[in-house]
Amino acid sequence: MIVPTGDREEALPAEWYTLSSDEVEQTLGTGPHGLSREEAEARLQRYGANVLREEERETRLQVFLRQFASILIVILIVAAVVSFFVGEPQDAAAILIIVVLNALLGYSQEWQAGEAIEALRQMLVQKAVVIRDGKQQEIDASGIVPGDLVALEMGDRVPADLSLVEATSLQVDEAPLTGESSPVDKATGPLTPETPLAERSNMVFAGTTVVNGWGRGVAVATGMRTEFGLIAGLSQRVRAEATPLARQMDVLGRDIGIIAVGIAVLAIGVGFLQQREFLEMFLIGVSLAVAVIPEGLPAVVTLTLAIGIKNMMRRNCLIRRLPASETLGAVSVICTDKTGTLTRNEMTVVRVRTPESEVAVTGTGYAPEGEFLRDGSAIDPLADSDLRQFLRAALLCNHATFAGDEAGEWRIFGTPTEGALVVAAAKAGLSRDDAPEAVREFSFNSTRKRMTIIYREGDGDVAYVKGAPEVLLDLSSRLFRDGAVVPLTDDLRDALQQELCGYASRGLRVLGAAYRPLPGDVPRTAEAVEKDLIFLGFAGIVDPPRPEAAEAIRLCRSAGIDVIMITGDNPLTASAIAQDLGLSSEGALTGADLEAMTDDELARRLRTTKVLSRVTAEHKLRVIDILSRDREVIAMTGDGVNDAPALKKASIGIAMGIKGTDVAKESSDMVLVDDNFASIVAGVEEGRREYDNIARFTRYLLSSNVGEIVAIVGGLLMGLPLILIPVQILWINLITDGPTALALGLEPAEKDVMQRRPRNPDESILTRSALLVILVIGAWLGLLTLYAFSGFYEVDIDRARTMAFTGLIIFEMYNVLNFRSFRFPLHRIGFFSNPTLILAILGSLGLQALVVYVPVLQEFLGTAPLTLADWGLLFLLGLPILLAGEIYKILRLRSEEKGRTPA
Ligand code: ATP
Repeated sequence: MIVPTGDREEALPAEWYTLSSDEVEQTLGTGPHGLSREEAEARLQRYGANVLREEERETRLQVFLRQFASILIVILIVAAVVSFFVGEPQDAAAILIIVVLNALLGYSQEWQAGEAIEALRQMLVQKAVVIRDGKQQEIDASGIVPGDLVALEMGDRVPADLSLVEATSLQVDEAPLTGESSPVDKATGPLTPETPLAERSNMVFAGTTVVNGWGRGVAVATGMRTEFGLIAGLSQRVRAEATPLARQMDVLGRDIGIIAVGIAVLAIGVGFLQQREFLEMFLIGVSLAVAVIPEGLPAVVTLTLAIGIKNMMRRNCLIRRLPASETLGAVSVICTDKTGTLTRNEMTVVRVRTPESEVAVTGTGYAPEGEFLRDGSAIDPLADSDLRQFLRAALLCNHATFAGDEAGEWRIFGTPTEGALVVAAAKAGLSRDDAPEAVREFSFNSTRKRMTIIYREGDGDVAYVKGAPEVLLDLSSRLFRDGAVVPLTDDLRDALQQELCGYASRGLRVLGAAYRPLPGDVPRTAEAVEKDLIFLGFAGIVDPPRPEAAEAIRLCRSAGIDVIMITGDNPLTASAIAQDLGLSSEGALTGADLEAMTDDELARRLRTTKVLSRVTAEHKLRVIDILSRDREVIAMTGDGVNDAPALKKASIGIAMGIKGTDVAKESSDMVLVDDNFASIVAGVEEGRREYDNIARFTRYLLSSNVGEIVAIVGGLLMGLPLILIPVQILWINLITDGPTALALGLEPAEKDVMQRRPRNPDESILTRSALLVILVIGAWLGLLTLYAFSGFYEVDIDRARTMAFTGLIIFEMYNVLNFRSFRFPLHRIGFFSNPTLILAILGSLGLQALVVYVPVLQEFLGTAPLTLADWGLLFLLGLPILLAGEIYKILRLRSEEKGRTPA
């Protein structure tokens, strides 16, 4: 993507860090309400989009020319040149035409694959929250213009260079820009002009990430004019890495190359002993080299992977690293979050427990409409001092906001847990509009399970804390009851703890709140502030399980994939939700249990345990370590900043598309667009299908190569003239086998793909039994071809070759039907269930008819016309190839099915 910058560039002062927030706002004509929509649009025209100039993509010509950079092609070109000089100009021309056709085919497939990856890149666009016309809204980060007011929170990737106007405990990881690995504190206020880049604490820079706190800043530079854009043309890219399969293919290619040379040398030796002519021996050598190498294979693999990535995208799995699409098919354990992945993440507060009493809260979703009921009758929530104080604390210790759109839909900005609390407060008529000034924040993370925001109220500071209730109860020494602060006795603590368990075991998510007026001498550190708290109560929040998750879990079970729920939530809540979804909560473990276990003990427990609760990011890392000792292929989901190491370490790290932070997404192999567990399982199914199909066409193409070799070498040993000339073999490998192989890649998933155990990721695509099948079928094809040739060569060598050539293609067309399934006969998978393959077969046969009858093509490919009887003979000869395959499958399936029914 090229962004014209030069002519739109406009000089803006560079020393923003020397200005106060007001000066910055004034210079850029903005304020607390941000820009207006019209102004933002005008500026977008003026300054261009906020994107980095990408590396230029290879041009079409470059891609085309690259197709010639292969040893095989060079051999063929040399062969063409030699043919020309030894007086065979037609052969020379024919080989060259095929070489160009091959390049065109390779080019078109590679170009399409490139397009797919480009489309993927477009889907990975970064989002940002801006304030325009006084309203908070999410836009593509590319739409940010100088003057935009941008909101930042933990986990965000900073979308442009911003001058901060608000910062609460804001810390940023600036490693990509300055190399500094520890987080840097940020604050507002002008700095002196000498301040170096790494110390400009009132600015945050594009490409860095927020690791703590929150803030707002005015965009002062966008796109290539940001510090990041100035130092490098770096950008977030989908890296085109070799997949394990592609590497296997490379090794296969190398092995085949060695075999090719070996066979060719051997053949020339034999020819020499038989005192054949030099030209003939040369042609035999070239034919063999061409026959051994599956020319179409690399292009077919590339294109199939690209199509696979598109299919996965359709199933909401955005592949960020190509190998992930393959790994996904081999996954044997899925470690999944609960909130949002197995549940809907649409949270509603339904109960509030204050020390003295309990209320039910009515209403659904995020609409701020509902009542507070005590014993079934509505009460005025603000008249209840305990309830009011609880709701106020939950609201102040909170970043979420909510808004209604034109269609009457209510949505929240921020996390659903916080959103639910803001909405509950709004139902009571409370809002943050008249909130005091926030002075400090100790952010939430899954290790702390709590957060605190300190407000300046009157002369002093008050800390509002919310988090997991048991954690807050431990940190509290007092209680707010009937409007008064009283000591929190052990009895009261136990009673509240019991209430809490009651909520959690009903599957409710429970969140507590507390506060503490801070004496001036208490240091403003998390340790000093978050103790001696005054406990206010807790809210019970419903987050219903996703209806499709239970079915997906069942599918995993039949597919031999273990599902382990790994959540930061309360053990009782986690177990209740697990049971709802059909996951056993037996032997459930907590983070504390994990810590008390040795690695061996944990390894043993992990074989049966399905629920891990109250775990932290470090626990996730340990679980991956231990599971991978058992050679499991582990998919692990994550969303937070501190999930990044686990996402990197898992065989396949899956970041949440909706609730995931930018940091998590960037550490992942795959982004789950809809956060939905069922989509992971759909991706696994797609991955398995794709792998099956690659195995199918690889084996199909190789069996064809073996057929060609057997025919040529057999003919040679029998002292026959050359059976197939190089162009004919090239024609088969590229023009007729290519499309059928590609169509095999589109074969729908077999009925039992999700009833098989995951494949062994180390297993080669060419297992021993696969090699046997390739050799047996190849030998059969080769011998049939020899037979078709041998009846005619004494009369008419061109006709004999045409019989062999056409015969081999017809046999291949039968053979491709064999490879549609390794297990099921055609009537079980449906003869017409892959229409593209039928088209490809008809197309190949049609093309062959042209080659046999059109004079120009006859010249090029050395063919002679065949009679109807010839065609009939070839079709009859080939039929047993298919019949044998079918009979074998029917018998095997029958014996399998018998084996399953008890005698
Ligand atoms: P999952 O790991 O399945 O996504 P989770 O969201 O419950 O589940 P964490 O995000 O690690 O996991 O949260 C752990 C606990 O911290 C929660 O159970 C809740 O009690 C508390 N908590 C969650 N969000 C907040 C928040 N924004 N502020 C304060 N406490 C929170």
